[in-house]
Amino acid sequence: MGTPSDKKLIDENGLRLDGRGPDELRPIRIRTDVLERADGSAMIEWGGNKIIVAVYGPREAYPKHTQDIERAVIKARYNMAAFSVDERKRPGPDRRSVEISKVISEALTAAVMVEQFPRTQIDVFIEVVQADAGTRIASLTAASVALANAGIPMKDFVVGCTAGKVEGKVVLDLSKEEDNFGQADLPMAVLQKSGEVVLIQMDGELSKEEFDSAVAMIMDATKRIHEIQRNALVEKYQNIEAGGEE
Ligand code: ADP
Repeated sequence: MGTPSDKKLIDENGLRLDGRGPDELRPIRIRTDVLERADGSAMIEWGGNKIIVAVYGPREAYPKHTQDIERAVIKARYNMAAFSVDERKRPGPDRRSVEISKVISEALTAAVMVEQFPRTQIDVFIEVVQADAGTRIASLTAASVALANAGIPMKDFVVGCTAGKVEGKVVLDLSKEEDNFGQADLPMAVLQKSGEVVLIQMDGELSKEEFDSAVAMIMDATKRIHEIQRNALVEKYQNIEAGGEE
């Protein structure tokens, strides 16, 4: 982290490099049923992020020793394509993708009625085809929609967003430059109805007041993001009713 010497991330009017105000989200678009073979799928475009999620299951957990006799095991696998970032990323799993897969699996487990499907696994394949900061929370937001699209019973939706500190100011939904050169990054995900926090990580430093204000901004944004999730699912049923493509 550190500040780039050549450009300011926030101008004299308080606007950010992409013209957003402090609590504005980048454009978000979610579509369901983007893959034919998956039980459920979704694609999210969030700023410059493009992420596809495929859900399979519940199906018998394999290998057998991974089975839980009381509940379904959610196996999320987050992968960034080699061409998803400016410099080619080395293909295959690395520490970061293993960590993100783990935190996503845990967050989704809190939302799904896993007790209904003992001994099974639910696979959630996440492919980041274009990365632009905030991929873990965008992945979670899309995965939640893909699970619903697969018809998997859920207690609640997971909705994620980030906030952070840039040039001393708390701002919502960090862009790539803000993530790289800002002072703090706080990705967070909650259950939409209950407000329970299911993911929270932090990079950098925030004072107690800044932290509280970042969390408040995120909580407010999750309401707007959930509307987009809901509309993506409703759109599908409207298409069916209209006799259009499923
Ligand atoms: P998140 O994507 O959840 O914000 P990070 O903070 O780890 O996760 O990453 C921030 C951004 O940095 C990513 O969205 C991506 O644009 C970029 N990035 C991550 N890993 C790499 C990599 N190996 N090579 C190039 N860019 C990367």
